Amino acid sequence: MSPRAVCGIVLHPAGHTLSPVIHRTAYSALGLDASFSVFDVPAARLAETLRELRASGLTQLCVSLPHKEAVLRLAERVSDAAREIGAANTLTVRDGEIVADNTDWIGVTRTLEPLGPWGGRRATVLGAGGAARAVVHALRRLGLEVSVVNRTRERAERLVHDLGGRVGTLDDAYDLLVNATSLGMAPQSDETPVPLARLLPGATVFDTVYRPLETRLLREARSRGCRVQNGLDMLVHQAVEQIRLWSGRSADPALLRRAALEALAGR
Ligand code: NAP
Repeated sequence: MSPRAVCGIVLHPAGHTLSPVIHRTAYSALGLDASFSVFDVPAARLAETLRELRASGLTQLCVSLPHKEAVLRLAERVSDAAREIGAANTLTVRDGEIVADNTDWIGVTRTLEPLGPWGGRRATVLGAGGAARAVVHALRRLGLEVSVVNRTRERAERLVHDLGGRVGTLDDAYDLLVNATSLGMAPQSDETPVPLARLLPGATVFDTVYRPLETRLLREARSRGCRVQNGLDMLVHQAVEQIRLWSGRSADPALLRRAALEALAGR
């Protein structure tokens, strides 16, 4: 019998992550013999924790804030997407080596593809952190022209230097607006990154935030006649891809989505 797979998520502070419920639901549905643990690890202890986990038979580790960039330096191999994005959300042990991957951009692609076609359309991306970099990578592959707007302009400049697109402003016209900042996320759910008047009727507004499911940005966008999309599908699809990377199996996104919704509703 093959040994039990050792999986989990590394982050700090631990907060409320939906990854355990999503991954455990998938393992159970697919009949995968795997554990999933939450490792609350400050940055200073990341390298040591990875060494310990590998020695204890690590199979896969989801990576969340603040470790998504640091793990690139600790992995033996880095996928092309993770290298280009400059961040990894997944470590998988393959042939004894730790491989860093990024599945956030796949979550973005699978969320937006059904709402397309996007070729030649204009996108404004708000934010320039790890999530924004995965978003820009995905949007450029979907054929969108991308403008990046960020509180710290130099960070936006670095992003477009690395990934393409241009630095824009909130006054730019767009067909797709993506919030990849943490503004609007609970407990700051009364905040929004965009004034109401800059929400363009008919555009699609995608908020990568999923807690709450309907952010102030999405509520206001709906009231302005925009098509709206929350961050839950991105979360589910990036997890489906993580599980495929180590097990080769495809989890049902609808099942994982239901499990995540129940957890969000506190059931
Ligand atoms: P990050 O690297 O810390 O970046 C945070 C971004 O938010 C930066 O662009 C930052 O701007 C901006 N920001 C923070 N506070 C702000 C404020 N008060 N005013 C204006 N801008 C502000 O975090 P991340 O990993 O990119 O994550 C960002 C968000 O993406 C998360 O909060 C989460 O909701 C979402 N996310 C969703 C998924 C999913 O699967 N749905 C996955 C990953 C992340 P500066 O550069 O100026 O600091």
